[in-house]
Amino acid sequence: MSLKSILESVRFTATFAAFLGMAGLLASVPVPAADATEEREPVQILFTNVNIFDGFKDKLSPGMSVLVEDNYIKEVGKFIKAPDAYIVDGKGRTMTPGLIDMHQHVMLNPPEGTAAYQTRWDGAAGGAYTQHHLVNNILLKGITTVRDIAGDPLDIAKAIDMGQLPGPRIYSSGGAISQTGGHGDWAGRNVPADVLHNHKDMAQATQNTWVVNGPDQVTEAVRMNLRRGAAFIKAMGGGGVASEFDPLEIMGLAKDEVARAVEIAADNGTYVATHAYHEDSYNRLMDLGVRSFEHGFLVTEPTVKRMASRGQDVVWSFQCFMSVNTFGDYDAMPGFFTHEQKVKGVAVGKGARNAAKLMNKHNVFTIGGSDMFGIRFVERIKEDITCNVDAGYTAAQALKHWTGNAGIVLKWSGPKNPYPIYDLGTIKKGAYADLLLWNGNPLDDIKLILDEERLEFIMKDGLVYKNTMVEADHPHFRPARSPSTRGQYPL
Ligand SMILES: [Zn+2]
Repeated sequence: MSLKSILESVRFTATFAAFLGMAGLLASVPVPAADATEEREPVQILFTNVNIFDGFKDKLSPGMSVLVEDNYIKEVGKFIKAPDAYIVDGKGRTMTPGLIDMHQHVMLNPPEGTAAYQTRWDGAAGGAYTQHHLVNNILLKGITTVRDIAGDPLDIAKAIDMGQLPGPRIYSSGGAISQTGGHGDWAGRNVPADVLHNHKDMAQATQNTWVVNGPDQVTEAVRMNLRRGAAFIKAMGGGGVASEFDPLEIMGLAKDEVARAVEIAADNGTYVATHAYHEDSYNRLMDLGVRSFEHGFLVTEPTVKRMASRGQDVVWSFQCFMSVNTFGDYDAMPGFFTHEQKVKGVAVGKGARNAAKLMNKHNVFTIGGSDMFGIRFVERIKEDITCNVDAGYTAAQALKHWTGNAGIVLKWSGPKNPYPIYDLGTIKKGAYADLLLWNGNPLDDIKLILDEERLEFIMKDGLVYKNTMVEADHPHFRPARSPSTRGQYPL
C-alpha cells in the first residue's frame, strides 16, 4: 500500500468519518470512496525509552514504550512486542500529551482582537489570520487541541478534520451568547438599534457573537450554533474587560435566558460555559446548571468552597497570564483597549492572584485556558502554563490543567463531541495519538516548554507535524500532509 493511500485511509476512515457521523452528515456528504472500505494492515509506530507524564500523575514514569496504531495509542508498557512497527527511539525524552488550550478565540486574532470585524477586516481576512496562528503559534508549538470559546471557526475546524488544512483539533462554542450591552456586544455605540436587532452587526453577521434579548432568541442562537457543529455553548454571565458597555459588577444574561441555554444544551447532551467575574454571577449560574466557569477573579472563599463541593461536576477555567501578568499592569494591556477597559483589567489582575490561591487551597477542579489572542499575545500562549507555577501551582498541576483535566471536560460535549472515539489529554491505552517529546523534564523546570528547540516531536491524530528525532523517509513514518496539496507542513 502506498504512503498516499495510507494517509488517506487513516484520515478518512477515522477522524473524518467520525466527525461526519457525529454531525449526522454521512448520508449527504460525499466521502472519498478510494480507501474508506479497503482492507489494509494498520500502521504502527513504537516509541521506546520515553519518560511519560500521563496527564495526571505528579511524577514521570521512566523507561516506557508507547505503541501508536493509526491515530490512537494501542499500548503503554515497559516492553511492548510490535515486530512490524516503525521504531522511534525516544532517547530518554519526556513524553507528554499534546497540550490543550481550554480558552481560545481563534477568530479574534486580527490586531484589533474583539473589535476585529467592526472596521478593518472582513471574515475572509479573519480566517486567514486564524489559519496562520492555528498552524504557527498553536499546532507547531505543541498545542494539539483548542477549546474555542467565542468566535466562529466551525468550518475551519471542519476543513482541518477533513485533512484539507493543517491545524489543531478545535472544540468550538460557535458565537458567544450575550445580552444587548453585554460582553459579546462588540458593535460600535452608533450602530442603529434595528441593525443590532436583526443580527446585522458585523460580529453577528459572521456569527462570532450573538446579541440576544429573551429566552426565545437564546433558543435560536443555541440551536444555530449546535446545528453548525458547536461542541458546547458559551453564555455571558457578567461584565467583561474587553467590552465597552458592561462594568465588571453587572450580571449578564437574565435567569430565564441562562436557564434556556442550559436546557437546550442539555437536550443536546452538552453543557454551558460562562464568562463571569464575581460571585453573584457564579452562584446564580451554578444554581442554573452551568458547568464551566471562566475567569471568576472576584469571587470569595464561600463561593470557592461551593465549587469544590461539586467535585468534577463543575470546573474553574483559569486564564493566568492575561489576568496575573497582563491585567495586573495598566500599561501592559492591549493598545486597542480604552481607558475604562484598562481600569477593569487592573481590578481583575489583583483578584486573579487571590482566586488562584483559594481555588488551589480548596482543590477546585481546574483547567487552563490562555485567552491569549491578538498578535501581541497569541505567540506567547505557553506562558499561560508557566504562569500557573508563578501563581502557586506545581509544574505537574500546571500541566494537568492543560492536559488530563482538560480531556475530562472535553468529554462533557457528549454526542456533540467532534472527537468521540478515544480520550484526549492523556497518555494511556485508548487515547488519541496526540503526543509530544521534550528534551528535558518540564516537571523539574516548567520554563523549558517555552524553548521551541526542546520540543522535538509533535504528533496529532497519529500524524507527525514536527520531528527533529528520526529520519522521516520510512513509509510507516507519516508526516502530516494534505490530500489536496500533497504538501508537507510547515510549507
Ligand atoms: Zn475569553
